[in-house]
Parts: sequence; structure tokens; C-alpha cells
Amino acid sequence: MNRLEPNQVMGSNHDDVRAEKNIETFALGRCARCKYFDKMCDEFCVFAQIFPEAKRQSFLLVNDVYGEEQVENILHDVEPRLRETAAATLVLEAEARKKDPVHGITGIIEELNRQIDTLKKDLTKAQYTLLFGKPNAAL
Ligand SMILES: [Zn+2]
Repeated sequence: MNRLEPNQVMGSNHDDVRAEKNIETFALGRCARCKYFDKMCDEFCVFAQIFPEAKRQSFLLVNDVYGEEQVENILHDVEPRLRETAAATLVLEAEARKKDPVHGITGIIEELNRQIDTLKKDLTKAQYTLLFGKPNAAL
């Protein structure tokens, strides 16, 4: 990191060591977005609580699929109490988009709907068999 931090003090070796320590301390507190883009992170950062450094991989995934600016806009447009849920959804959708660039999350939904249809048909067959004591070949 070559950029000076606001609390970085240049001067003697002692000052340089202290400044380096401040940078390290500050860097640990930055969210995954601010650390990745080497930005200042403060209490107004919409990513701070949602994508701490521990969730770096999730941030990198949504950043790769949607772009940082789009994710920031989405999170800003959502009520603060719902941002974590919105972020979790973005991560899920981004994972699906990475696995299946054509269908994304709708591919998963379609597969689940197919499974539901199959299970409903199986249930209807089982109910018929229970009711009439024999399977119905037409079902
Ligand atoms: Zn931040």
C-alpha cells in the first residue's frame, strides 16, 4: 500500500513504525470492498457490515458478476434492516450465474419446479393406490 492513510505519520523510523501499525490496524477494520479497492471505509460504508473482510469471497463473487457500483446501488435502495438479506440473495444469484451463465437462478427454480411436478404426480398415484387398492395405469 503506497497511499497515505489519514492517520499515517511520516518522519522518523519510530513514526514510520507507528504509521505502519496504524495502517495495519485500519486495514483490519476495512470491509472487503474498501480493502479490495483500497478505499477509505467508514461508518457510512454500505458494505461495512454486510461484507466484512471475512466475507471477502462473497464480495469478490458479487463484484465479479454485478460490479461494485451496481451492488452498492442495490444495497442503498434497500432498507438498512433488509440489506443483509439482499446481499445474501445477491451472493446466491451470483453463484447460480457463475455455474449456469445462461439460466442463472432461473435454472435452479425450473429444476425445483420439475421436481415438485414429479412429486405431485407420485403423490397422486400413491393416493389413488391407497384409495382404490390398486395403481391406476392412466396416472
Ligand atoms: Zn467499506
